[in-house]
Amino acid sequence: MTTEPFNPFTIAQQQIDQAAEKLELDKGTHELLRWPMKEIKVTLPVKMDDGSTKIFHAFRIQYNTARGPAKGGVRWHPLETIDTVRALAAWMTWKTSVVDLPLGGGKGGVVCNPKELSQTEKERLARAYVRALAGSLGVTKDVPAPDVYTTPQIMAWMMDEYETIIGENHPGVITGKPLALGGSKGRGDATARGGIYVTREAAAVNGINLDGAAMAVQGFGNAGQNAALLGEEILHMKLVAASDSRSGVYNPKGISAAALVDHKIKNGVLKGFQEADEITNEELLALPVTVLFPAALENVVRADNAQDIKCRICCELANGPTTPDADRILDDKGIIVLPDFLANAGGVTVSYFEQVQNAYNLYWELQEVHWRLDKRMTQAFAGVYEMSKRSKIGLREAAYLVGVARVAEACKLRGWV
Ligand code: NAD
Repeated sequence: MTTEPFNPFTIAQQQIDQAAEKLELDKGTHELLRWPMKEIKVTLPVKMDDGSTKIFHAFRIQYNTARGPAKGGVRWHPLETIDTVRALAAWMTWKTSVVDLPLGGGKGGVVCNPKELSQTEKERLARAYVRALAGSLGVTKDVPAPDVYTTPQIMAWMMDEYETIIGENHPGVITGKPLALGGSKGRGDATARGGIYVTREAAAVNGINLDGAAMAVQGFGNAGQNAALLGEEILHMKLVAASDSRSGVYNPKGISAAALVDHKIKNGVLKGFQEADEITNEELLALPVTVLFPAALENVVRADNAQDIKCRICCELANGPTTPDADRILDDKGIIVLPDFLANAGGVTVSYFEQVQNAYNLYWELQEVHWRLDKRMTQAFAGVYEMSKRSKIGLREAAYLVGVARVAEACKLRGWV
């Protein structure tokens, strides 16, 4: 038997097709929303520390800007493809819309293995990316941010390169910056925090008690580590398992999230953590936990393993972790799936707050960021939940209907369709 290679953009288009049918969009609007409005492919020559020149391929996709400038992270990954970036840019479009931010959707990617690059090579790559794209970036055009394997330091180099090119201070060109360069308080854990807020809301409307409930985290990077820490702090849940790209750890009695984060930061890997047993990624996904946080990459919950999933709530912090086939299986099993572009919208929401603060050159206290984020996420969840009840559909489909309808309306008002 041959299986089709996994293509996230095919999935993103299928999801739009379904939403378009439900929303009864006209043909022109439907077709417009199936495609990125602007795609940029650049080839970057970068000097390596040994004096050689390495060529990197990179992309920036501005999917749809009807509701505002493109917004979305830059991912550095060895398996990056233009179709992955297209899909992620589409999801950003529905994400900014579902939380009602005045932004469009975009995404960037560089095909590289950051684990093999020195700090100076990373800096040269970050600067090369911005040099190649500078004409298409800016607060009124497209604002990048961190994503998988890109960091506040990388954002700082990118901002500096952009400001050097245009010859003026322009911190809003990029978000997820370090605090000292105009970053927002609360951006570091915003993605996970937003996911925790919507998990709280979903549990409340479904009568699920989270106090002392078990959680498992797949992918122990920015989103995953903070989900574990905040799951403990805000929802009083108990972390029982976590994994990274190499291995996983499991202790049904509970793992201190802070101790595990500490171990990961010190050692770079989860392996070797003393107070837990080893577990594979597949085993972790199948644990009988109350909340599962997929927080690594796309395509992890598939038709072949969805039947094994036993959580009550699956909070998709990663983008695209569940395939459409798997989605149907989870739905049949009665698992509440908090869809990626709602569940992980906290990151872009605080990125938007960062842009607002940069524009005013006036910075908010952490409590204000948390309060505003909670309000946005709670409202977004309520809107999606209401749509799901009214239309008798799952939360993902409901989130699509809310997000896509707003983008379609903006396209229509502009006279594009
Ligand atoms: P990160 O680079 O900080 O962490 C990714 C983690 O995933 C790493 O610990 C890595 O070891 C692990 N991982 C990679 N492959 C894995 C595998 N096959 N199995 C298990 N673990 C694996 O990235 P991040 O910023 O935390 O992003 C994680 C996900 O969240 C991505 O899908 C990203 O698009 C999404 N996301 C992130 C943000 C953000 O603000 N950081 C916002 C929205 C969505």
